[in-house]
Amino acid sequence: MNESAQSQPVAVRPDVWTAAVRRAWQSAGLRITEPRERVLAAIVRFRTPFSAEQLYAELPETGRATVYRTLEQLHTTGWVARIHAQGGEDGYVASYPGHMHHLVCTNCGAVVIFEGCVVDALVDELARQTSFAIEGHLLQLYGRCERCR
Ligand SMILES: [Zn+2]
Ligand SMILES: [Zn+2]
Repeated sequence: MNESAQSQPVAVRPDVWTAAVRRAWQSAGLRITEPRERVLAAIVRFRTPFSAEQLYAELPETGRATVYRTLEQLHTTGWVARIHAQGGEDGYVASYPGHMHHLVCTNCGAVVIFEGCVVDALVDELARQTSFAIEGHLLQLYGRCERCR
């Protein structure tokens, strides 16, 4: 948990993100194969949330199992976040591991990632009031981005 509780946007720059994922794979002992590299390159080309099938459609030369397994691995480790769609199909976006939240444009699908969390005070208060041992939370904000409003 971020004790300063300050939220600030984190930009996903394709080259920086890709290099960071490669380093994470290396330290996890995962082989960086050509197909996996293609999956990374395809993920950062998406500007809005994508489904596993949409990702696979961008990679006809890569096996479906590789695409799905790589996406799942990236999601489990926090390099890809799952975005809840209002009344639609959930999608994925490139993100960063750690405690992140997402701001989503309901018109164009643009996603802003936020690092740091201001929910902690609410969690403490609710835990006190309800005697729940609260283990986590989901928070996603939505609205219209600067261009769409
Ligand atoms: Zn927008
Ligand atoms: Zn949070």
